[in-house]
Amino acid sequence: MTNIAFIGVGNMGGPMARNLLKANHQVTAFDLSDTVLAPVLKAGAAKAASANEAVNGADVVITMLPAGQHVRSVYLDNGVLSAAKKGALLIDSSTIDVDSARAVHSAAEKAGFLFLDAPVSGGTGGAEAGTLTFMCGGSNAAFEQAKPILEKMGKKIAHAGGPGAGQAAKICNNMMLGISMIGTCEALALGEKLGLEAQALFDIMSTSSGQSWSLTTYCPVPGPVPTAPSNRDYTGGFATALMLKDLKLAQTAAQSVGANTPLGAEAAQLYSLFAALGNAGMDFSGIIRMLQGKA
Ligand code: NAD
Repeated sequence: MTNIAFIGVGNMGGPMARNLLKANHQVTAFDLSDTVLAPVLKAGAAKAASANEAVNGADVVITMLPAGQHVRSVYLDNGVLSAAKKGALLIDSSTIDVDSARAVHSAAEKAGFLFLDAPVSGGTGGAEAGTLTFMCGGSNAAFEQAKPILEKMGKKIAHAGGPGAGQAAKICNNMMLGISMIGTCEALALGEKLGLEAQALFDIMSTSSGQSWSLTTYCPVPGPVPTAPSNRDYTGGFATALMLKDLKLAQTAAQSVGANTPLGAEAAQLYSLFAALGNAGMDFSGIIRMLQGKA
């Protein structure tokens, strides 16, 4: 049994903390919202009145917060780095900008802590089921120490490299996903206008060189892949607002290192427009509706 502090128990953090409780770890939780704390407390977590109180005596600290500014504010400036016990392992699973991740890494190292950036993919379904993929950045020592804990919440725990590498891997993957989803939608929308049945085009493309995860696992038109959000009116998947967040993080990162990502930039523009049309909460594959002129 490990004594774990969990800070940020919203849509993702809540079920992740509950999986740690199920694995018989002791969890002390803190969130600014009492509403999201309630189910975690009901599952057996202890309640803390602040982030610093939560980490008092904890062996492991996990944060699952919205963005870089929240992660900086929780760890830095008399935050968790000043309140955690000596030798505690610190893990941030939020999806944040690479610069913030590296800034917290460096402050944590100066304060004598092992720190891991460990963003996830797999969404709320993966968080509930304990099947998330963790992409980790940090030292071998931090990764090896974190692995048995992360395995209680995920099924694939990958070490991407040094500080910030987990965040870098996450935004590269999601930039590719955003671009490939738009490409898949354009092909299906063009095929429809050319008089092709969606199923016939799917059968051909899914066994041809245009094949991709966006097509075969997450097909943006209803029918060919029954489990895809397109069959549920684009609900219950990966929200457009989160895809847009990741595409913007990818653009910020690309600018900071001078990388050329013209399609990533275009994908960010198109998702920005789609979100502004009132679709921020819709699954990101719903962008096909805008490309079909139906959004
Ligand atoms: P969420 O908004 O549901 O949860 C974040 C929680 O952090 C909220 O409950 C909020 O009250 C809390 N919080 C904010 N500032 C705080 C502070 N200073 N102290 C304590 N608590 C604070 O968001 P989420 O969907 O759980 O996402 C969390 C992170 O995971 C984000 O970075 C997101 O991009 C990433 N992510 C989300 C998904 C998804 O499908 N939802 C998938 C992969 C990654």
